[in-house]
Amino acid sequence: MKIAIDGPVGAGKSTISDAVAKTLGILHLDTGAMYRAVGLTCLREGIDIDNERAVAERCRDLLIGVSYENGAQRTLADGDDVTGSIRTPEVSGAASRVGTYADVRKAMVAAQQRLAAEQDMLLDGRDIGTRVLPDADVKIFLTASAEERARRRWKEMLDKGEEADYGEVLKAVKERDAQDMGREVDPLRCADDAVTVDTTNLSFDESVAAILAIVRERTATGA
Ligand code: C5P
Repeated sequence: MKIAIDGPVGAGKSTISDAVAKTLGILHLDTGAMYRAVGLTCLREGIDIDNERAVAERCRDLLIGVSYENGAQRTLADGDDVTGSIRTPEVSGAASRVGTYADVRKAMVAAQQRLAAEQDMLLDGRDIGTRVLPDADVKIFLTASAEERARRRWKEMLDKGEEADYGEVLKAVKERDAQDMGREVDPLRCADDAVTVDTTNLSFDESVAAILAIVRERTATGA
C-alpha cells in the first residue's frame, strides 16, 4: 500500500501522518526531513545556500538515508544521525531553499522512490502525489487556512516557552507557501486525483479519522 500526503507548511502533515501510518501498521517517511538534512549539511559545511551549483555539487555525493527505531524515523546524512538537529528555523529556511534546486529534487525523489518500492509506506511532503508516487493507492491534500496554520505554530512555540509574535509567524508561513507553490520544479499543488482534507476546523483526532476513512474507502483495507 502506498499513501501520499501533501500539503503546505503547518497543516499538521507530520504528526497526522505518523498517527495514520501507525494505525495502518505501515512506515511513515517524512520527506521534508530529507530536504532538511541537505540544508543542514550545507549550513554546517559553510556552503552558500543561494549558490545552486555548489549545493547541487555537494548533493551529488551526499547520502541522505533513513532508518526506523520502533517505527520512528531517524534521518541520516552521510551516515550521521541528524534527526535532533533539523528542526530549527535556520534549517527550515535552508530546506525550503535547497528544495527549489532541480538536482537536489532529483536526488531526493529517487531516494524516496527506492524506499517506497521496498515496502508499504505512507509518504508525506509537497510532491508525493504529483511526482514521487504518481500511482499511489491513496492521495490526500492536507491543508488549513494560513491563519490557522500560523496560529497552531505560534501556540506550539509559546507552549515550548519560546518567544513568538503571531504576525511574524503568519508572515513566515505565507513566505514558505509562496516558495513551495511558486518554485519551478515540482511546485506544491493538489494532484488531480487527490482528496482534499481541510483541517482548519478539525481537531487532530478528527483529521486522523477523516484520512483513515478515505484510506478505507479507497483500499477497503484501512483500519
Ligand atoms: O515538511 P517540512 O517543513 O519539514 O519540509 C521542509 C522543506 O522541504 C519545505 O519547506 C519544502 O520546501 C521542502 N520539501 C519539498 N518537498 C518535499 C518535502 C519538503 O520541497 N517532498
